[in-house]
Amino acid sequence: MPLFAALQIRYVALQQNWTLPTLTESLRNIAIIAHVDHGKTTLIDVLLAASGAVRAGKEIAERVMDSNELERERGITILAKVTSLFWNETRINIVDTPGHADFGGEVERILNMVDGAILLVDAAEGPMPQTKFVLAKALALGLKPIVVINKIDKPEARPDYVLDAVFDLFAALDASDEQLDFPVLYGSAKQGWMAKTPERAAQERVTNSVAPLFDLVISHVAKPVIVPGAFTMLATTLGADTFLGRVLTGRIRSGSIAAGETIKAIDRDGKLVENFRVSRVLAFRGLERKPIDRGEAGDIVTLAGMTKATVADTLCDPAVVVPLDAQPIDPPTLSMTFRINDGPLAGTEGSKVQSRVIRDRLMREAEGNVALKITAGEDRDAFEVAGRGELQLGILIETMRREGFELTIGKPQVVFREDDNGNRLEPIEEVVVDVDDEHTGTVIETMAARKGELAEMKPSGGGRTRLEFLAPTRGLIGYLPALLSETRGTAVLNRIFHAFEPYKGAIAGRRTGVLVSNSPGVAVAYALFNLQDRGAIMVRPGVKIYEGMIIGEHSRGNDLPVNPTKGKQLSNVRASGKDDAVTLTTPMTLSLEQALSYIAEDELVEVTPKTIRLRKALLNPHERKRAERAKAPSAA
Ligand code: GDP
Repeated sequence: MPLFAALQIRYVALQQNWTLPTLTESLRNIAIIAHVDHGKTTLIDVLLAASGAVRAGKEIAERVMDSNELERERGITILAKVTSLFWNETRINIVDTPGHADFGGEVERILNMVDGAILLVDAAEGPMPQTKFVLAKALALGLKPIVVINKIDKPEARPDYVLDAVFDLFAALDASDEQLDFPVLYGSAKQGWMAKTPERAAQERVTNSVAPLFDLVISHVAKPVIVPGAFTMLATTLGADTFLGRVLTGRIRSGSIAAGETIKAIDRDGKLVENFRVSRVLAFRGLERKPIDRGEAGDIVTLAGMTKATVADTLCDPAVVVPLDAQPIDPPTLSMTFRINDGPLAGTEGSKVQSRVIRDRLMREAEGNVALKITAGEDRDAFEVAGRGELQLGILIETMRREGFELTIGKPQVVFREDDNGNRLEPIEEVVVDVDDEHTGTVIETMAARKGELAEMKPSGGGRTRLEFLAPTRGLIGYLPALLSETRGTAVLNRIFHAFEPYKGAIAGRRTGVLVSNSPGVAVAYALFNLQDRGAIMVRPGVKIYEGMIIGEHSRGNDLPVNPTKGKQLSNVRASGKDDAVTLTTPMTLSLEQALSYIAEDELVEVTPKTIRLRKALLNPHERKRAERAKAPSAA
């Protein structure tokens, strides 16, 4: 009888067009926007604990949202992840937004899944340029952010100043009056409380909780808008699950979906991508993704079962013909050739060296990463890997290296295109540099050498200036380390893809040649000491050397063959490495990113789990000569 009664009510409701309380009545989807270190992870830990989704003290210590070790090291979040919790019968899905500009293209699609945002700002530091891009997109999409001024417990907290700065930032980003009227909470994620005033009203001190934030989310953020009709969902992020294979996450716009149902995927133009049977519907529960019976409109879910469908496609009922609006996937702007390590030291430091293993690993990466394009290179030992910039590709190389791979990587190349008239176009980025006033001139000068055009210059407070440029990606390769050294580490750089524009002309590359070893062996202090006059040395005594390896930078424009293995007397006893009492200057060491931007066209970076070496692509000097001669007539 109860079942019948329920059905009857539903039937009457349908007849009368009543709205029944559904999932959407009690659901909120929000994004968190924060600069690195302003406390996003801590806040989410606290919210999870307060909601009971995670037992306090258990997983809390594990810095829940950014689980990837490399992300933490580089202080960025790469993948948007969702955490879900309940507060007073309301489900709140919290989406983490990528904070780094190289990944900015995903931001807009991700923000389309939510109806509100929390802008989390450090009470001492104030808003930082890194959050500007994400906030700008959120405001442009019409979201009305809640501002949380965190770390109020810090002695150097200056909440009034920070509030003013946030207001100015909103105004500068053309926020509407409604958006400018943002609600503010003050608090300490670390101590687990949020309050309406920085002084923390006595009563709120008693409650000592983050309830005010939950309440504000529920009252200020709109319920998800649900369009009536058959099932539709915009695929927003792509992932690869160990058991389920390809998975796509998005917010259900209309209808509902259960495992076993057959749906289709159509692209942005409405063209069929594939028909497939949904093998699993998963939703976020606490920190985990769990299978659910049915995904309902408004919720953020993950579907499995597709083989081809990707981000920006619409997953929908077979009867649907019109795709959901979607931003196109940002095009790759930079590519590198990943090759097997075929140097003399190959296989001595890593365990994964064969081209098949490298190929499988790259294919697996591309499966879960929409921004990567992998194509077979000119021979079967090489792969072209195209992505969205140095940071993304650098992280991939670093990850593979930690997994035991050995690789050689060629000079990064920007991806060119042609317009309809056959003119060459290249990727241009918007670059924002915040720097101490005294370094402004230097930065403008070095950016000009890299074909960066100054678009705007204004004081950003506290003796600092903000410089905005439009610059070709080509000129920005390796720019960050250079910028940091010329500003004594004080500059903050942000970049984001702008557009493909006509080629900006040649940019001068490295002006010096290199010191190339002409013999194999072990570097000897005595030999290195004698080579110091020729340029900066990159190796230490005792390291293994091979013919064609780059051991230093020549102070002149040409490459110089040298022998770093030659001891004072070539007796077996003396050539051991730590022979002579000579004083060597500290060798020049290059990080992976520096090495990639340092090498010339005919050079490679050799990457192993233990070492980064530079080498000539052709190790044999005669082969190098021949290649040079073959190139000479056309190089004029
Ligand atoms: P995220 O990079 O935004 O995820 O920042 P984290 O949550 O990892 O926090 C960065 C640092 O700030 C950590 O050392 C936290 O302990 C600290 N922190 C976070 N919230 C607070 C707070 O409310 N007060 C103080 N004093 N420190 C905090």
